[in-house]
Amino acid sequence: MFSLHKKRYNRLAMKRILITGGAGFIGSHLCERLLNEGNDVICLDNYFTGSKDNIRHLIGNDHFELVRHDVTQPYTAEVDEIYNLACPASPIHYQYDPVKTIQTCVIGSMNMLGLAKLVRAKILQASTSEVYGDPDIHPQVEGYWGNVNPIGIRSCYDEGKRCAETLFMDYHRQNNIRIKIVRIFNTYGPRMSMNDGRVVSNFIVQALRNQDITIYGDGQQTRSFQYVDDLVEGMIRAMNTGDSFTGPVNIGNPGEFTMLELAQKVIDLTGSKSNIIFHPLPQDDPRQRKPDISLAHKELGGWEPKIRLEEGLKRTIAYFEKIV
Ligand code: NAD
Ligand code: UDP
Repeated sequence: MFSLHKKRYNRLAMKRILITGGAGFIGSHLCERLLNEGNDVICLDNYFTGSKDNIRHLIGNDHFELVRHDVTQPYTAEVDEIYNLACPASPIHYQYDPVKTIQTCVIGSMNMLGLAKLVRAKILQASTSEVYGDPDIHPQVEGYWGNVNPIGIRSCYDEGKRCAETLFMDYHRQNNIRIKIVRIFNTYGPRMSMNDGRVVSNFIVQALRNQDITIYGDGQQTRSFQYVDDLVEGMIRAMNTGDSFTGPVNIGNPGEFTMLELAQKVIDLTGSKSNIIFHPLPQDDPRQRKPDISLAHKELGGWEPKIRLEEGLKRTIAYFEKIV
């Protein structure tokens, strides 16, 4: 009797959650975590940069549904929460079809906000530190408006994501939609795509193959790298904040490293024989990036990243060792 009651209670506590871009690197970890917490999860993806391989282990779970769909087309489902992650994230992929990238950011966001309005769902936007562009202030706080080139090769992504933030705020002000905007800083971990050109996956794959490690520019530019589990924890906490908190809120690891330091760490951890070589710096490549996470700490119940770069790299290297 007690267990029946408990079962019914748990069933009521379960949320129906839509994750767009759920077959991607971050989305797959989010699907897994939200399923493990006892929710019903719909993973929506057009497989542009994601893959069924990332969520294959979830297929067959009664509480998991997979939908092949492009967010630039309307989609309807009765859900309680929406995590909007659909968008290519690596420079190579988002620059491959820049017009499509803007459509995904802008029309995709409008479609998901329209759905949130229709079914009264809460909706979280996976925004990015790229909204700060090549930042003039360091570390970056949420109040900084950014230094973004509106006509460069990164603009389809940077301006697309900025416009998405505008849409989220306007739907909130105009229609009372419950929104959360999280600005994600460089994130890495298992299931990053091997070929998407991002620095952590590039360096690890090159090191494991004893190939030259390609540093763009002089390697003095910095990034702050966050392990994917820390991000997922921060995103879920952001979704669960009270309705008055909308963000934007930075979610990242403030540990800051030059690309030369990262290359050396990867060489040391893999025991690789790779040499470091230098390639030209891509246009508009930000010189530095480091999140101020005091707002996240305050609003997300003391959230802070737990996984240090060395530990996260070891876990990521272990993943790539199996597939390289
Ligand atoms: P990813 O490329 O692995 O995942 C993106 C997913 O979205 C893929 O599965 C892709 O197939 C899907 N997708 C793309 N366009 C779509 C469309 N039109 N319709 C439906 N699905 C579509 O990238 P990721 O690193 O997992 O990033 C996920 C989200 O987080 C993105 O919105 C990205 O901008 C944001 N983000 C990521 C980082 C990072 O460092 N990884 C940093 C800042 C922001
Ligand atoms: N980068 C590099 N070698 C590579 C790939 C990237 O030196 O093989 C540099 C890139 O120029 C940038 C940094 O690493 O300065 C992070 O690049 P990534 O594409 O991972 O992320 P983003 O530039 O979007 O922060």
